[in-house]
Amino acid sequence: MTARRILIAGNWKMNGLSADGVALASGLADKMKSAGAVNFEMLVCPPTTLISKVADAISGSGIQLGGQDCHMNEKGAHTGDTSAVMLKDIGCAYALVGHSERRTDHGETDAVVAAKAAAAQGQGLVAVVCIGETEAQRDAGKTLDVNGSQIAGSVPDGSTAANTVIAYEPVWAIGTGRTPTSAEVQDVHAFIRGELVKKIGADEAAKTRILYGGSMNPKNAKELLALADVDGGLIGGASLKVDDFWAVAQSI
Ligand code: PEP
Repeated sequence: MTARRILIAGNWKMNGLSADGVALASGLADKMKSAGAVNFEMLVCPPTTLISKVADAISGSGIQLGGQDCHMNEKGAHTGDTSAVMLKDIGCAYALVGHSERRTDHGETDAVVAAKAAAAQGQGLVAVVCIGETEAQRDAGKTLDVNGSQIAGSVPDGSTAANTVIAYEPVWAIGTGRTPTSAEVQDVHAFIRGELVKKIGADEAAKTRILYGGSMNPKNAKELLALADVDGGLIGGASLKVDDFWAVAQSI
């Protein structure tokens, strides 16, 4: 089996002011520094206002930094937006794109998500492309169809394992405390990898990390992260506390 380095990614969403953002980042940096060599990669995605301060706080810890979104263009008349080159300039190595909250709150389509992912990749960032079905789609038996078409539409042509991570996040599991069963998660991840084969070829698909997201926490992380096609987690609520996020990473 191709070795894929586990990625533990924290999505802080619209949470945190300077003091608590820096405290969270510093707490994680301390844990990483005292742990020495670790068998995972850690990523934090703070709100844009905190990226610069968090970059300072995690400096030298090995923790990676990411934006929660990026614009598809490099610069220009796009009030309130942040481009991939700006994220890179401020120290980011990753950008989340297509989170379900962006798709819902900002009407982002697969085509928009693919353009944002391509913009991130074009700046040398790793695009974390988020996909996942709603509860109604799941109840209608459309889970695989929805995730298949999101992979087809949201992952840019020519993507590679080096510049792309997929995050499977069932919308109904985000922030709800509910998760699919482990068997369901593994089935969807294996399906997604199969769809990636069609999109980017077997070699790249085998190397691409597919994260699970949706109410991952210190209690369920061990079982989820042990699944064959789960290569890490995208974590919201449990990434806002040093001990919880660290406990998730320690459960690998
Ligand atoms: C998320 O929003 O990416 C997420 C997975 O949130 P939570 O862990 O809180 O469900």
